[in-house]
Amino acid sequence: IELANQIAAGEVVERPSSVVKELVENALDAGADELVLDIEKGGSKRIRIRDNGGGIVRDELTLALSRHATSKIQSLEDLERIGSLGFRGEALASISSVSRLRLTSKPAEQSEAWQAWTEGRDMQVNVEPAAHPNGTTVDIQDLFFNTPARRKFLRTEKTEFSHIDEVIKRIALSRFDVAFQLTHNGKTLRRYPKAESQKQQLQRVAKICGGQFAEQAYQLQSPEGEYKLKGWMVAPEHCRYQGDVQHFFVNGRMMRDKLLAHAVRQAYEKYLPADRVPTYILYFELPAEQVDVNVHPAKHEVRFHYQRQVHDFILTQIERVLRSLTE
Ligand code: ADP
Ligand code: MG
Repeated sequence: IELANQIAAGEVVERPSSVVKELVENALDAGADELVLDIEKGGSKRIRIRDNGGGIVRDELTLALSRHATSKIQSLEDLERIGSLGFRGEALASISSVSRLRLTSKPAEQSEAWQAWTEGRDMQVNVEPAAHPNGTTVDIQDLFFNTPARRKFLRTEKTEFSHIDEVIKRIALSRFDVAFQLTHNGKTLRRYPKAESQKQQLQRVAKICGGQFAEQAYQLQSPEGEYKLKGWMVAPEHCRYQGDVQHFFVNGRMMRDKLLAHAVRQAYEKYLPADRVPTYILYFELPAEQVDVNVHPAKHEVRFHYQRQVHDFILTQIERVLRSLTE
């Protein structure tokens, strides 16, 4: 079992930031709106995430640490319209096979908290009483301690932490209704409080993408319809060179998609000098059954069933704003 889990871990857990991504997605799936992350030594020594979500009842702690124990897929159909973020049902088991993992949880309806961890080659799960407020903490120490080849692939503390930082930024840009706190080696480096109003959202954007972007960004909001596009975009005269802010979210997930990028570029084309690139943070929403998300966790690819329609919708919406900006 340990070996099977370790092999699975190779797919799910590439480095500390992929662990962080899985854990944060779990917390969000559990309805948490406050996440506190403590990282030590770029995540190689410790990754601890506390959330205030629904928690895991005592009897399900063991299941949560077992392979393919996802509570989120009941059928093939579910697989197709992956509503929740996590869906493979093996992240915790995989991570726990390559680290020292402790899972502590207290659902609101349960009066005590319990803690679970695995031990030995057969991944025996132990459970004991613990102290914990409503919600869940996953505490992971010594990632890859038993897979030296993987551990060797870790880069410097600073590099690994910057990947974690990046993961949190992306998620923070897609969940303004959730508060995040990120600490590295005892120092709290990021605080993104809940952002309800437009003004607060733009403050979070400024923290993540820079004050200049936030100052120059125009808000965009498509009319009600099957497709929705909202976010911020920068007027052509303020767009700069490659490497500027270009974030596209599809149904809440950040994607790098050629079709979308192309639609935006085409809209900007007539206004933009050749050496400049469009600058934007955009959120595109469409019915889940019209899009396939590549199930490989590391890829950020999508396939739209109606490509032409999506492309033209994005193009039209951006053009509409650009026209009004340059009139
Ligand atoms: P998946 O997310 O694909 O179901 P995971 O291995 O990531 O698989 O998690 C296993 C299960 O543990 C989840 O289905 C969920 O029921 C539970 N779980 C994990 N993390 C949390 C959390 N932070 N809060 C509540 N439940 C959690
Ligand atoms: Mg998960």
